[in-house]
Amino acid sequence: MDELSEQAKKAKVLVAQPNYTNSFSSEVHVNHLECAVEWTRAGMWPMVQEAYERGLADAHIPEAEREDLDVEQQLLYNFQIVGRTFVHFARTQMADVAVKGGYSHILWFDDDALISPEYLPKMIDHDVDVVIAPYPMRRPAYEIGVLRSTAYRCNACEWYGYLLWDYETEKVVVLDTMPDPEGMEEETGPVACPPNDDEVFCPSCNSKDLWRDFHNHKAYRNLSALHNLDQGMMSVDGGGTHAMLIKTEVLTDRRGVVGGPAAMPPEVQEIIDTLKNNLTSSQIKKYDHYLGDLPDETSTFYEENQQGKPYFLMPKRGTEDMYWCYRARRKGVEIWCDTDMFAPHLGFAPVITKGFRVKSEEDRYQLNGNGSKREVQLTELQDDNGAIRRPVLQQSKVGNLV
Ligand SMILES: [Zn+2]
Repeated sequence: MDELSEQAKKAKVLVAQPNYTNSFSSEVHVNHLECAVEWTRAGMWPMVQEAYERGLADAHIPEAEREDLDVEQQLLYNFQIVGRTFVHFARTQMADVAVKGGYSHILWFDDDALISPEYLPKMIDHDVDVVIAPYPMRRPAYEIGVLRSTAYRCNACEWYGYLLWDYETEKVVVLDTMPDPEGMEEETGPVACPPNDDEVFCPSCNSKDLWRDFHNHKAYRNLSALHNLDQGMMSVDGGGTHAMLIKTEVLTDRRGVVGGPAAMPPEVQEIIDTLKNNLTSSQIKKYDHYLGDLPDETSTFYEENQQGKPYFLMPKRGTEDMYWCYRARRKGVEIWCDTDMFAPHLGFAPVITKGFRVKSEEDRYQLNGNGSKREVQLTELQDDNGAIRRPVLQQSKVGNLV
């Protein structure tokens, strides 16, 4: 692992892991061992409660090294695992611990995620509000669980439409409208992924000054492993907490311009303003109690939590982590994806059907230029977290699962 940057040395990271089932798979356990050992070897120190109470004065460090150690100059980390608790409650508890405990960062590290230990200091060095390591979903077709809206408004000419990278034609396609059949709230339009930043420009006036409309959820598309990954940092609109580092100040501080169309679509703001202007404060209280909170995206997560709207909420549809991303975006928080990383996911093993085997045999052969078949390696074992089960004991690793 590279030497820690000055910035990483100042970090105090809560590694936060909801664990509803109160158990870990051996794959995850081995990965935790690997992380803890590699982090400690690289100069990051696990904290103990005692150290915390003493103002970090003696983190869990060998006696002999204590005197030389400047705790202010040491990346400190602590695992927190919350078991047998619904995931949004668990996350809210952990967010609260991070805020009150003076942690600089939260590494959301799900209990079915695997990461390379070096990702933590790398993520800190990116110095952004939120950074996600891309990962596949648990179920076939294992889509990348990081999304970005494909709806844009041109700041120069007011054009509004959709820019998608079409898998079939391998080109950016422009749509003026996104098909939206009655009652169908799921993904519509062509099978496509978001275009990369250098492919985004206004089809009407060629301007590159476009605003990405993250309110438009039907325009969200999953990143593509082939088209969007391995190109450094990419601004995105949502993703799971699988392996996501956030600055704790994202929960407590205001970001950028507060309010405006990014916080609330103008037509929705109009409805809320009408309500607020015509209701007395006691009527608003009744409204909030019986009908749900009147939204106010100028509040920070911390303020909302104080007012009884937790850091994490379970939405009517979707998941608590994606919903948190949307709330964060509306509060002016930027979300990034380091597309050079990849955090494998403990999958749901599918029933291996005849179709799977047929596909495997098809994938096993590629056609050469002259039409003859050439056998290709199905799975290339790489010396990274891409291959977690290798049939050997790796002397260079502390955790082996064979
Ligand atoms: Zn334009």
